[in-house]
Amino acid sequence: SKEPATRWAWVEIDQGALRRNTRAFKNLLGYGKRLCCVVKADAYGHGAVQCAKIMHATGADMFAVATVSEGVQLREGGIKSPILVLNEPPIDACDTLLEYQIMPSVYSSEFALAYGERAVEMGCVGKYHMAIETGMNRIGVRFTDVLEFRREIDFHRGIECDGVFTHFATADDPDGWDYRLQCTRFSEAVAAMKDAGFECGIVHCSNTPASMLDHSMQFDMIRAGIGLYGLQPCEKSAPIMPLEPVMSVRARVTRTIHPAMGEGVGYGFTFRVPRARVQVCTIPVGYADGLPRTLSNKMDVLYRGQRIRQVGNICMDQCMVAIQQTPARQMPEAEVGDLITIVGKDGDAVISMDEMARLRGTINYEVACGFGMRLEKVYI
Ligand code: PLP
Repeated sequence: SKEPATRWAWVEIDQGALRRNTRAFKNLLGYGKRLCCVVKADAYGHGAVQCAKIMHATGADMFAVATVSEGVQLREGGIKSPILVLNEPPIDACDTLLEYQIMPSVYSSEFALAYGERAVEMGCVGKYHMAIETGMNRIGVRFTDVLEFRREIDFHRGIECDGVFTHFATADDPDGWDYRLQCTRFSEAVAAMKDAGFECGIVHCSNTPASMLDHSMQFDMIRAGIGLYGLQPCEKSAPIMPLEPVMSVRARVTRTIHPAMGEGVGYGFTFRVPRARVQVCTIPVGYADGLPRTLSNKMDVLYRGQRIRQVGNICMDQCMVAIQQTPARQMPEAEVGDLITIVGKDGDAVISMDEMARLRGTINYEVACGFGMRLEKVYI
C-alpha cells in the first residue's frame, strides 16, 4: 500500500500535480527559454531526487539547490542535468563541485580564482553562474562592480561563465518601484558585460512570483520553486494561474480514550475535558515533524471530512485531537487506524498550507519545508 510500514504518519506527494504544475511553468516560457527548477531544501520538503526526476521528465532544463551536498544528493540520485548552487560555497568545496559537475554561484574573486586553479589541476573547466547584487542585499557582485569583477577573474582559463543572475526581493509587487529598480540594474549590468565582450551565458532572474506576474523578465531562463509545488507565492498570483498543491500530510489514530470531564490532556494540561463524551485521539505527529508547538490548541485537523480540534500541548512526536459531541454536532467516534488529515483534502474539507502558514504567522514555504524534515514521504 502507499503508506510507510513503520509509522502511522506520512507526507503524501501527488506526482500528477507536480507534473501539471511543472508543465504550467514550462508553458509560461517564450520560445527557446529554459526552466530551472528550484529543489533546494529537499525540494521544499517534497523530496529532491524524486521531484527532480518528475520535473526532468516534464521538461526541466536545470536544477537549483542551496548547498553542495544537495547537489551531490541529486547526482547520486541519478540526475544528469546542470545543477546550480544558489550561493558561493566555501573554497574547500571546489573539489566536490568539480568532481560532481555542480556549478557554484560566484561573487568573490578569491573563490573564482581558487575554483579555476583547482579545475586546471584536475584537468577540467569549472563552470559557474555569476550572482549580481541588484538590491536585495543578500549575495552577489554589486551591480556597479560587474565589469571590474569580470576583469579580475576572466583571464583564468580554469573557469567559464555559464550564466549570470540576480534575485528579486519584492517580486510580489511587480509594478512597484523596488522591483523595477532591480530589473533596471540587472538589465544594465548584463548589457554592460555583453558590450564589454564578457560571456554571460544563461541570463536569469525570475522566481515564481516574477514568472507569474511579469513575463517581460524571463531573459534566457526562469527559476521557479514554490509554484512547482502547487503553492502560491503571494495573493496577487493566485488568480493568474491555478496550481495544484502537491503535498498532503496524513496520519492515523494510534489510540483513543474517553477521559472524565475535568481531566487534563498532554504536558501541562493546557486542555481540560470540558464535558462528558469527549473522545481524545492520539496521532503520531509532533513538533519534530513540522507541527509547531505554538499551534497547540489552535489548529484543526480533518477527520471523516470534518474539522476537529487539536487539543493539549503538541509533543515532540505525537499530539492529541478531540472528537467532541455537542448538541450542534454529533460525530462518529474514531477507532485506532482511522485517517486524519493535517494538511490536504478529506472529502469536501480542506486544510491548506496557506491556512497553516497564517496560523503560524509565516509563509507556506516554511510550512512545507517543516513537514518534509522527518516524516516519511509516499509518492502517489
Ligand atoms: N532563486 C533564488 C536565488 C532563490 O533563493 C529562490 C528561493 O527562495 C528561488 C529562486 C525560488 O523562489 P520561489 O520559490 O519563490 O520561486
